[in-house]
Amino acid sequence: MTENKYESVIGLETHLELSTRTKMFCGCMLSFGEEKNKYTCEVCLGHPGSLPVLNKKAVEYATKIALALNCHVNDRTIFHRKNYFYPDMPKNYQISQYDLPLGVGGHLDIEMGQYTRRVGITRVHMEEDTGKLIHLGTTGRISESESSIVDFNRAGTPLIEIVTEPDIRTPEEAREYVEVLRNLLLYLDVSNCSMEEGSLRCDANVSMRLVGESALGTKTEIKNLNSFKFLQKGLEYEVKRQKKLLDLSKPVIQQTRHYDNNSDTTKALRSKEEAHDYRYFPEPDLVPILMDAEVVENIGKSIPELPAEKSKRYQKDLGLTPYDAGFMAGDVGIASYFDKCLKCYDNAKTVANWIMGDFSALANKKKVTVDESKVTPENLCNMLKMIDSGKISSKIAKTVFEEMFDTGSDPESIIGEKGLEQISDSGELEDVVEQVIADNPGPAGQYREGKKKAIGFLIGQVMAKTRGKANPKLVNEIMTKKLEQE
Ligand code: ADP
Ligand code: ZN
Ligand code: MG
Repeated sequence: MTENKYESVIGLETHLELSTRTKMFCGCMLSFGEEKNKYTCEVCLGHPGSLPVLNKKAVEYATKIALALNCHVNDRTIFHRKNYFYPDMPKNYQISQYDLPLGVGGHLDIEMGQYTRRVGITRVHMEEDTGKLIHLGTTGRISESESSIVDFNRAGTPLIEIVTEPDIRTPEEAREYVEVLRNLLLYLDVSNCSMEEGSLRCDANVSMRLVGESALGTKTEIKNLNSFKFLQKGLEYEVKRQKKLLDLSKPVIQQTRHYDNNSDTTKALRSKEEAHDYRYFPEPDLVPILMDAEVVENIGKSIPELPAEKSKRYQKDLGLTPYDAGFMAGDVGIASYFDKCLKCYDNAKTVANWIMGDFSALANKKKVTVDESKVTPENLCNMLKMIDSGKISSKIAKTVFEEMFDTGSDPESIIGEKGLEQISDSGELEDVVEQVIADNPGPAGQYREGKKKAIGFLIGQVMAKTRGKANPKLVNEIMTKKLEQE
């Protein structure tokens, strides 16, 4: 049996909590980690007779998302009630959208190195979040808990669902899709997109089919994928599990499965509800939204330059490689930092190298982002200018940079305080070179006998004696001159 007999087919449903000031249908403030049930009212607690009022800002944000995902924005869109009972939802229905969602038929392109995957966006719709159940007990698991409490602070938070076509082919592509989507949403400034806090949540649908076949196989849906890593791992496990079943001619059962990150496996949660179980019907308490063409156009105009365009511009205007441009544009914080650097320093490639190299390495280690670090773009640029002018060597610059990163000081003060200025004074260096030659007759002799490589050792000695501050180019010149003279 060949490895590639089957291909996996994946479609993702992403939920995003918008960062509006207030909830979707009432004036309660959005909050996180606050005293339980502090931000609630008769609407988000589902009291009989209370009426929802639509949050205009949420519609604006949702429209921005739909447009950025190349969707068609319907000029008339309505809300539906999705009926089901669960204790975290006091109305016993969720206000959502059904057959007339806000946006339809978009796409998002994913660069996979060797190829580009275009992922169709089926729909972008608006709904409201539920409350949070907290299962008391040490493990926090429902099965081991004697009682649960419910916190409605989150209930009614504006939520956007972004559904893809089953266009994704591998767990790796799925991960890349969510990373690219998250970055795009961060550019739009409509949510904090925190997977940890649950502002961005992903459900993954996956099925298998024989390569070359066009019909879809039976799918399972994986829940609880609250990091990029878990998304990929959960899908990898599920692909393996389904493949095994098919190889044994056993059917895949359509079900919802829970990803367990302790064992890296998925477990059956429930057999999947059919859509009609929800008894969708139009929400009678909200009027249809008529999307004014001019309003939509203006929202479109408010969208900033997005990562894909930005990356192309960096390649075209700054001459960056596709990889470097993708790195600079691929994170909204890095992009804005990079743009600021270009205002005070004109060698884009050098800036990019520093950001991708020492800067990212330190930032990762210290768990801060580049743009939130203490190194200001001005200080980084000033340091780069000092390397260019020979004031410090690029080796010493690494030390200077670390100090900038830890303290936020400017490079000038650090160099002054620590005496790190590069020695480019020939007279001073000549003395050191002569001393080193005198102290190391062996290697000096080898050089003169034709073993030119021996100069490396001697230069190393000069660098050590000057604690790395000697201008290496100058040392090389002086050393060569002295050795050949004698
Ligand atoms: P459901 O009614 O179960 O929610 P939908 O048709 O709404 O299913 O699709 C939900 C998600 O699952 C979408 O992203 C879609 O692309 C994906 N999907 C649908 N059918 C399949 C399948 N057979 N294999 C993989 N993904 C699928
Ligand atoms: Zn409320
Ligand atoms: Mg669905």
